Amino acid sequence: MRRFHCVCGQEVFFEESVCPACHSPLGFNPATLRMVVLTDEPTLRTCALRYHPVGCNWMLAEGDNHRQCRSCRLTRTVPQQNIPINVQRWKVLERAKRRLVYSFIMLGLPVVTRMQDPDEGLAFDFLEDQRTNPLVKKKIVYTGHHNGVITLHVAEADDAYRAKTREQMNESYRTVLGHMRHEMGHYYWDKLIRGSVWYPRFRYLFGGEEDYRESMDNYYAYGPVPKWEKRHVSAYASAHPWEDWAETWAHYLHIMDTLETAAGFAVIHRSTAHSRDFHLLMGEWRQLTLMMNALNRSMGQRDSYPFTLSRQVIVKLRFIHQLVTGLEST
Ligand SMILES: [Zn+2]
Ligand SMILES: [Zn+2]
Repeated sequence: MRRFHCVCGQEVFFEESVCPACHSPLGFNPATLRMVVLTDEPTLRTCALRYHPVGCNWMLAEGDNHRQCRSCRLTRTVPQQNIPINVQRWKVLERAKRRLVYSFIMLGLPVVTRMQDPDEGLAFDFLEDQRTNPLVKKKIVYTGHHNGVITLHVAEADDAYRAKTREQMNESYRTVLGHMRHEMGHYYWDKLIRGSVWYPRFRYLFGGEEDYRESMDNYYAYGPVPKWEKRHVSAYASAHPWEDWAETWAHYLHIMDTLETAAGFAVIHRSTAHSRDFHLLMGEWRQLTLMMNALNRSMGQRDSYPFTLSRQVIVKLRFIHQLVTGLEST
C-alpha cells in the first residue's frame, strides 16, 4: 500500500480520519487513492459510517448517490448489533475490507456489486455462529464464497479465536485480510476463469476439478497431500484445484501490496513495485522477504514470511500476474 500525507506534510495512516499534527479532518478518496482534507474537497461526501461506532474514512465522489462508500456498501449482512462485541468485530472486518478494496482499485480488478447484479454480484455477509441460539435455523457459519456472496464468520475478527483456530488448522498465516483475499479468489475464478480463454491454462497448472465435496472431505479426514510444498503455496491449497487457486491468488495480492508498501518506504524502487516484469518482481520479493525475516529474527520474533515458493508455485503466480496485468491493458 502507498504512504499517505496530510496537506501539512504529516504522514498519516490509511485508517486515519484526523491529522495527528494539524487536526484537519481527513478522508480517503478511492477515486484517486489519496488522502484529502475534507474542507478542501466540497464536492466529495463522507461515508455514512464515518460517524457510526464502526467508523470509515472513505469518501464518495460527486454524483454518487449511495449513502455508504464503495467498500462499506459491499456488506449485505452485519452481525446482531445489540451484542457489543459484534460492533467491534464489524469494525475489524470493515477495516480489513477497505484494504482489500484498495487492492482491487490499485490492480484495476473489476468489481460488480450485488446491487448492480442481484444474481451474481459481490456482497459480504458477516455472520455469527448461532449454535447456542434456539431461534435460528442456520446455526453454523462457514467462511466461504458462493455465487458472489462472501460469508465471514465474525469470530475471525477476535484475536483469541483466530490464534486458537490457527493452531488447530495448522494455518500459520490466518488473518482477516488473508481470508478476504482468499474468498475473493473464488469470486474472481467465477468471473475471470470459468468458461474463459484462461480456463485451459488454469486446468493445466492447477489440475482438473475432481468432485469438490469429496476432495474437501478427504482433506479434513487425511490432511494435506504429502510433500504439498512442491506444488502448492500452502497445505490447504492441496485440498482441491479451486482452493489452490484461491490460496495462490491471496498470496499474489499479499506480494503486490507488500511490494508497494516497500516502495513507499524506498526499500525497493517505485518503478519495480508497479512493473509488469514478473521476473523482476519475484527477484525483489525474494530479497525483501529475506530481509523481513532477518529483521524479525533480530527482534527474537518468528519469521514474518514463513513460505518457500517452489518453481511450480511461481509458475502459478505468474499465470495470475499475466491475467491481472492483461485486464489492465484491455
Ligand atoms: Zn495535517
Ligand atoms: Zn465506508
